[in-house]
Amino acid sequence: MKRILITGGAGFIGSHLAERLLNDGNDIICLDNFFTGSKDNIRHLIGNNKFELVRHDVTIEYFAEVDQIYNLACPASPVHYQYNPIKTMKTSVMGIINMLGLAKRCNAKILQASTSEVYGDPLIHPQIESYWGHVNPIGVRSCYDEGKRCAESLMFDYKRQHNIQIRIARIFNTYGPNMALNDGRVVSNFIIQALKNEPITVYGTGMQTRAFCYVDDIVDALVKLMNSDFSLPVNIGNPDERTILDFAKLIITLTNSKSEIIFKELPSDDPVQREPDISLAKQQLNWEPSTCLNDGLIKTIDYFQHLLFDKNLHNV
Ligand code: NAD
Ligand code: UDP
Repeated sequence: MKRILITGGAGFIGSHLAERLLNDGNDIICLDNFFTGSKDNIRHLIGNNKFELVRHDVTIEYFAEVDQIYNLACPASPVHYQYNPIKTMKTSVMGIINMLGLAKRCNAKILQASTSEVYGDPLIHPQIESYWGHVNPIGVRSCYDEGKRCAESLMFDYKRQHNIQIRIARIFNTYGPNMALNDGRVVSNFIIQALKNEPITVYGTGMQTRAFCYVDDIVDALVKLMNSDFSLPVNIGNPDERTILDFAKLIITLTNSKSEIIFKELPSDDPVQREPDISLAKQQLNWEPSTCLNDGLIKTIDYFQHLLFDKNLHNV
C-alpha cells in the first residue's frame, strides 16, 4: 500500500488511474483545479476513506507526504490547451517544478504524463523515443508541445542534479469513457456528432493519421512504468494507425448513424502522421495494448450515449 498523488486526477485519464490505484489498495490524493476535469468522473470514489480530493492548482506549491506522484495536470485537447496558452505553459512548467520539488522533499518517485506531441509534426514514422522531434516553437500548439518538452527536460535535470527517480510516459492519442462532452478532440467530436445524426466534421482532407489507444491499456502501462526501474522516456499507445477519414466512417458504422461527412479547415500545425513504435514498452514493461479499436469504441459510444441521454433528461 502506497500514498499516491495524482495531479489532474479528476480528468479523463486521471480518473481511471485513481480508480485503478485505489482498487490496488493504495491511498490516493487526487489534486485538480477542475479546468477540464469534473467531479462526475470521480464521484463514485468520494466517500472512500482511502480517497482524498483536493481542489488545487499545480502552478502553486503543494505539500503532502507521498510515495509516488503521477503528474497528469494539464489540458490535453487542442481546443482546451489553446484557450489560455500562457496558462497551459505555466501548468506544464511550474506544475512540474512544484511536483519535482515535492518528489525531492518526500524522496518520492515521479511519473510525468508526457505526450507524442514532443515529436511535433514528425519526420520519421513510426515515432521512436530516440527521435528528437519536429516542433514549431512559435505555433499555436507550442504552448502544449514546448511545455511538455520543457517538463521532460526538468525531469532529467532533477534526476542528474538531485537523483530523483523519474518516469516519463509519452502518451499517444487515448480515448474512452470519462472524456468530456465539450472535449473537442476527434473521438468525442465524431461520436457525439454521429449519435446526434449531425454532420461529422473532418478537418482538412482527412488523410492525416492517428493511432488510438483505449484508456484501460494506457492506465495499465502507466502503473507498470511507475513500478519499473526504467527512467528513460517510453512511448505508450496503440500502433493501430488510421486516417481520420476512415476513422469517421468507422464511427458512422458503429453508431449506425445517418450523419454525413463534411470537410472543414485544417487547424495550423496539425501533425500529418502519428503512430507509436512501442518496442521499448514491450521490452521494458512487458506491455502492449489488449483492447482493439472496435471494442474500445463500442464502450466509449455506450458512455456517450448515456451521457447524452441523461443530459436530455436533465434538460426536460
Ligand atoms: P484532461 O483534460 O481530461 O485532464 C487533465 C486534468 O488536469 C483535468 O482534470 C484538469 O482539470 C486538470 N488540470 C489542468 N490544469 C490544471 C492545473 N493548473 N492545476 C491542477 N489541475 C489542472 O486530459 P487527459 O486526456 O486526461 O490528459 C491527462 C494527461 O495526459 C495530460 O497531462 C495530457 O497532456 C496527457 N496526455 C493525454 C493524451 C490523451 O490522448 N488523452 C495524450 C498525450 C498526453
Ligand atoms: N479532427 C477532425 N475533426 C474534429 C476534431 C479533430 O478531423 O472534429 C482531426 C484533427 O485535425 C487531427 C485529428 O483529428 O488531425 C486528431 O485531433 P485531436 O484534436 O483529437 O488530437 P491531436 O492528435 O491533433 O492532438
